[in-house]
Amino acid sequence: MDKILVLIHTVEGGALPNAALETLAAAQSLGGEVVTGVFGEGAGPSIGSLAVEGEAFAQARYATDAAACEALIKASGAAIVLAPHTSRMARALPGAAARLGGVVDTHVVAVNTSDGAVEASRWFYRQRIEGTFSRAARPWVVLIEPGSYEPAEAAPAAAVTKLEVTVGSKTQMVGFESPETGEQTIRPDAETLFVAGAGWTKKQKDGQTHTPEAAELIMGFVRGAKSSLGSSKSLVDMGSEGQSVLPFLTHLHQIGQTGSTPRHKKGLATCCHGEEPHVVGWRFVRERRAVNMDANCGWARGKADVLYVADAFEVMRELNRLLG
Ligand SMILES: Cc1cc2nc3c(=O)[nH]c(=O)nc-3n(C[C@H](O)[C@H](O)[C@H](O)COP(=O)(O)OP(=O)(O)OC[C@H]3O[C@@H](n4cnc5c(N)ncnc54)[C@H](O)[C@@H]3O)c2cc1C
Repeated sequence: MDKILVLIHTVEGGALPNAALETLAAAQSLGGEVVTGVFGEGAGPSIGSLAVEGEAFAQARYATDAAACEALIKASGAAIVLAPHTSRMARALPGAAARLGGVVDTHVVAVNTSDGAVEASRWFYRQRIEGTFSRAARPWVVLIEPGSYEPAEAAPAAAVTKLEVTVGSKTQMVGFESPETGEQTIRPDAETLFVAGAGWTKKQKDGQTHTPEAAELIMGFVRGAKSSLGSSKSLVDMGSEGQSVLPFLTHLHQIGQTGSTPRHKKGLATCCHGEEPHVVGWRFVRERRAVNMDANCGWARGKADVLYVADAFEVMRELNRLLG
């Protein structure tokens, strides 16, 4: 079988993103020869037998990331490259693959072998059709979707070959900026997804809306449980329609047919009806629960494992109290 390179980057402080260890698990599941290449801050003492480090590579930046990837792929001599589908890799690897005369596939959810050849699977047509394919071109770079594998255990490499890569760039990464809030609430690595629906801004039992309290309860849970925050389309659309809204929600939070399809172990939907165009975005959320006052809402129709027919304001108040 073709030699495989697991190509990963570190994050601030030299840690590895969860998705890196998931990609390592994907490579190990194939059973062939696997080498690991790491670039970024603290790459040397990390898990790679090949490393590119230095100040220039600590920043997420196309020019330096692509140069590091190119050097690591070349030095490994691998025909197949598996990398985590982080934004950093998704930006840099197509360019690196093209420079090496190779090809790249994104959003891959599984790799397997058939007659000794590696095959990749991914979803097409907005997650409706799953396809399995292989490619003859080498190097074949495959970006593995986070959440598709259980993370592998990994120890620091016994011996590391550090590669010297020289590349100039005028681009400086100055930091992250979250839209509107400054707080990062979309966390693909989080165990739990918390979804807020339009009900949070509707008139409640007392005939009044309670949007400020809704905001407090939602953010209280997201911070307390370190969950990722998602939204229904109705709720994020309200802002553009001039209605009372939750200021920290943007269209980037929208889950569903015209939104995102995240992969979290667990999901909790609140004040959200569970209509099909929303729930298709939950396709990869493994354990689903919902809180809705309507016992006939969409979640009750086979779309959630557990539906709590209750007032989400009361449930979340209590849940946040328990979370401290
Ligand atoms: C082509 C197309 C694409 C679409 N794509 C998407 C998509 O990507 N994502 C998406 O989300 N939608 C999408 N939609 C819209 C989707 O069909 C729904 O309109 C939307 O998901 C409804 O949002 P909601 O459940 O938050 O709001 P609502 O339907 O208004 O539901 C609010 C819910 O809150 C509950 N509620 C109110 N107060 C409380 C309380 N105190 N406690 C508990 N529950 C309470 C109510 O019982 C109700 O069920 C799409 C539609 C179309 C036609």
